[in-house]
Amino acid sequence: MIYNFSAGPGVLPEPVLREVQAEFLSYKQGVSIVEMSHRSDTFATIVEQLEARLRRLMQIPDDYAVLFLQGGATLQFSMVPMNLRESGRFAYLDSGIWSKKAIADAKHYGDVVVAGSSAAVKYRDLPAWPETISDVDYLHVTLNNTIEGTRYTKLPDTGVPIVADVSSNILAEAIDVKRYGLLYAGAQKNIGPAGLTLVIIRRDLIVDRDLPSYLAYSKHVDTLLNTPSTFSLYVAERVLAWVEGEGGVEAMERRNVEKSGLFYDALDASPLFHAVVSGKQRSLTNIPFTTGDAETDRAFQRFAEARGLIELGGHRSVGGLRASLYNAMPLEGVKRLIDVMHEFEQEGQDVSYKNV
Ligand SMILES: *Cc1c(COP(=O)(O)O)cnc(C)c1O
Repeated sequence: MIYNFSAGPGVLPEPVLREVQAEFLSYKQGVSIVEMSHRSDTFATIVEQLEARLRRLMQIPDDYAVLFLQGGATLQFSMVPMNLRESGRFAYLDSGIWSKKAIADAKHYGDVVVAGSSAAVKYRDLPAWPETISDVDYLHVTLNNTIEGTRYTKLPDTGVPIVADVSSNILAEAIDVKRYGLLYAGAQKNIGPAGLTLVIIRRDLIVDRDLPSYLAYSKHVDTLLNTPSTFSLYVAERVLAWVEGEGGVEAMERRNVEKSGLFYDALDASPLFHAVVSGKQRSLTNIPFTTGDAETDRAFQRFAEARGLIELGGHRSVGGLRASLYNAMPLEGVKRLIDVMHEFEQEGQDVSYKNV
C-alpha cells in the first residue's frame, strides 16, 4: 500500500481513478474523453455538472460566476491585478512564498501595498489582518499557505473586496464565498489533475477592460472561450461527485480536522520530530515538520519511502519534511505515517539509521 503525501499534484480518491480508468477508452459515445470535442453536448454536460456540483458544495451564490481556466494559480497572480485594476493600488498580505510571488506579479500592474508581512520570521507566523484598509482595489490573501503550513481562519470586514488564493484548502474546509470578491485555485491540490484553474468571482467585479482575450475574465463568463483542459475538467467533475457522495465539504473538513489533529498530536508528543508551526494557525492540509537536522530529515524521508510513504520532503525552498493531508488521504495513511515515525524513533536509538 502506497500513501502519497505530495503537496501537489496531490492524491486523488482511488474510486475516482478506477472509474476514470474504466471509462478511458470509451466515454458514452465510443470515443475517449480526451478525443471528444469540448463543444459536444456530452462534454457540455460534464462542464455543467461540474459547475453545479461546485456551486452546491461551496454554496456559491448566483451573483458569482465560476470560470474554468488554465495557467494555474500562477496566472491568477497576473489576471487578478489586470482585471480588478481601478485605482491601480492593491493590498497584499505577505504570508508565504506563494503570496510573495503573487506580490511580485501584481507589481507589473500597479502599486502594491504590503498590508502585513511575516517574512521577517520566515513565514512561521501569519501577518495580522490590517485594521482598516482603503484606497485599494482589493486585498489579496493566501488563505492556506501550502509551503509554510499556516492558515487563516477568521475573516475581518475590510471594506474592500477580498481576493483569496485557496489552491490548497478549497473543498478541504468551509469557505464562506460571499465574504470574498474573488477566489482562485489550481485544481491539482484537492480537485483533480493539473491543467485546470478555478476562479469564483462576484459578477460586479467583472469589468470589460482593454485586455487580450484570454486574460480578460469577462471573456470567460458562462462560456468556454477556447479549448479547456478537457481531461482535467472531466476528472474534477468525478472528484466533486465523490466529495458530494462522502457528505460534502462539512464531512471533508471534519475528516481533515481529525487527520491533522492526530498528526499534530503525534508531532507534539514526539521526542524526535516537531511541527514547524505552533498554535491556532496550523493548516489542516499541509503540515511541515522536522527533526531539526537536515540529514536526519532526509534519512527519515528515505526510511518512510521504503515503507510506501512517499513525497514527504518539504518544499525545495524551505527543506525539512511536509505531509499534505488532502481530502483523498485516508485516516489510515496518517496512522501509518505515525507508526513509521515511531519505528524510526526506535531505530534512532541506534545511530545507524542515518544510513538506511
Ligand atoms: C500550488 C500553489 C500555487 C501555484 O499553483 P500553480 O497551479 O502551480 O501555478 C499558488 N498558490 C498556492 C497557495 C499554492 O498552493
